[in-house]
Amino acid sequence: MAKMLALDCEAHSAPAGPTAAIEINNISKRFVSALGEIVALDRVSFDVYPQEFLSIIGPSGCGKSTLLGLIAELEAPSAGSIRIGGMPPSRARLARQVGLVFQDAVLLPWRTVEENVALPFEVMKIPEDQCRDQIAQALKLVKLDGFENRFPHELSGGMRQRLGIARALSFDPQILLMDEPFGALDAITRDKMTIELLNIWEQRKKTVVFITHSITEAVFLSDRVVVMTPRPGRIRAVIDNHLPRPRTLAMRDEPAFTATARQLREFLEYD
Ligand code: ADP
Ligand code: MG
Repeated sequence: MAKMLALDCEAHSAPAGPTAAIEINNISKRFVSALGEIVALDRVSFDVYPQEFLSIIGPSGCGKSTLLGLIAELEAPSAGSIRIGGMPPSRARLARQVGLVFQDAVLLPWRTVEENVALPFEVMKIPEDQCRDQIAQALKLVKLDGFENRFPHELSGGMRQRLGIARALSFDPQILLMDEPFGALDAITRDKMTIELLNIWEQRKKTVVFITHSITEAVFLSDRVVVMTPRPGRIRAVIDNHLPRPRTLAMRDEPAFTATARQLREFLEYD
């Protein structure tokens, strides 16, 4: 725990101002498969600002997950560089600055709700008595307090996704990377989850990079939206979203919302 606190202080003592939370500099990623070489990402550059909610939208295969994997250091780029709070992704990962949420919550079915959230702490070898409060806080944040002893199969799809978010936030990373986290949910649950995610983001002041297929979701959640195109994966546009906050579902019918949605659609239908 002492170690975590020290790392936390280090992160907070970074100079305030224009330092980007994430810098993506001229990233390319090639995969070699039996079918030949695939250029998953071709010279992609953009910054994510501290505490920004940034979405990435684009059709299947345009390199969204690859890009997130590079930020999370699940893979290495073929060219270019990434900095997270000024650090290489490897250091950011060791400093536990990055939390990840996937489309399916990737829960361990034989572990209870509480034990699933405890997993990152076990990996970090932090004794149970030192992380109990953080686990309880994370479960409270996603409104799963009271469900500590349930198993994943006893939860609804929305609750499982909330559990995935609790696990990603439990060690208080500055950055949350989300890969189509609500893609498998029904429309009503999805609406609820987007509102809950905005509440969490406003309470915890995280930098969020959110991948989605949904224009509505991108406009509803984001400060900016990066539009990508496939083969090779490139950035087509970065759109500022001026929809005021706090956001409500009713705003989806407002002209400011539909104008940004139309702009996104035009960039996506450009081909
Ligand atoms: P998205 O998330 O936007 O749907 P991905 O990042 O998953 O796209 O994939 C981008 C491209 O890279 C696709 O053509 C995909 O088939 C290819 N790709 C992704 N991962 C691998 C891999 N490990 N090996 C080979 N090709 C891959
Ligand atoms: Mg993907």
